[in-house]
Amino acid sequence: MVMDNVKILLHAREIYTIEIYYLFEEQFLKGGSCYQECVMLEDGVYKYHVWRPNVDIIRHEVIFNSRQMDIGCSCKLFTELGILCCHCLRILNVHCVSEVPEKYILKRWTKKVVEVDNFDIMSRVDSGNGASSVWLLEIIRKFHRLAVYSQENIEGQKICEEAIVDAKRRLEAECGGSLFEECDIGSPSGVIKDPSTRRTKGLRNRRVSSVISKKYNKARGRKHLANMVASKIKSAVQSQVEDNILNIAGDGYLVHPSSGGSSFCHVNTMSSMEDN
Ligand SMILES: [Zn+2]
Repeated sequence: MVMDNVKILLHAREIYTIEIYYLFEEQFLKGGSCYQECVMLEDGVYKYHVWRPNVDIIRHEVIFNSRQMDIGCSCKLFTELGILCCHCLRILNVHCVSEVPEKYILKRWTKKVVEVDNFDIMSRVDSGNGASSVWLLEIIRKFHRLAVYSQENIEGQKICEEAIVDAKRRLEAECGGSLFEECDIGSPSGVIKDPSTRRTKGLRNRRVSSVISKKYNKARGRKHLANMVASKIKSAVQSQVEDNILNIAGDGYLVHPSSGGSSFCHVNTMSSMEDN
């Protein structure tokens, strides 16, 4: 973990899978560099403008109901990815919220679901009940872990396969030879062959990656990419657009409201100061 003793991060670490936690942590850290301004407070409902100084030209609007623990942001990251955005996390942090509110924990991103999935697979294998099925579940889980741990490594695969051949031999001696008949492990000659899916040396392993693993990798490489993009792509057109927006913003700034479509609100700092 990048930061120690941050309660909401500890909680996220507890509930989310590691990939999701990584994305969550990235948002939290991003939130750390945000500023916020409370523009409205009514019956425990806060409206904030949240932005990163010198980075964001447009501010996002976060609405937080502190009684019901409802929070929403105009950037819509939660709708897109299923985790709270940096703006919401900033506001939760400001309000000393130490856990991710229940309603914003999507089951599909939690460790529980991964475990339940494994349990489902195993319960299909398992037809027994009581203590023996608990043992069966445990032992399958252990073998499963070994298999997963060694799957990317040819030597690791060999160790696994050898262990199974060895276990098979010893079990057959102990329990009789008929147990493993239908289970085709090892080859008749006793020589362990490569798995049928083995790729030729030097060839890359092409696995279809999920949206989350893509996002996860993206998050890890983002810093590097950001630097490259900043140095290479920031063209005259881009700065022209920024200049134009800054001109429109004038004395104030632009806000992306959480309702009312894609139109931006212009907030004039001078007049709002007069209002106060
Ligand atoms: Zn947001």
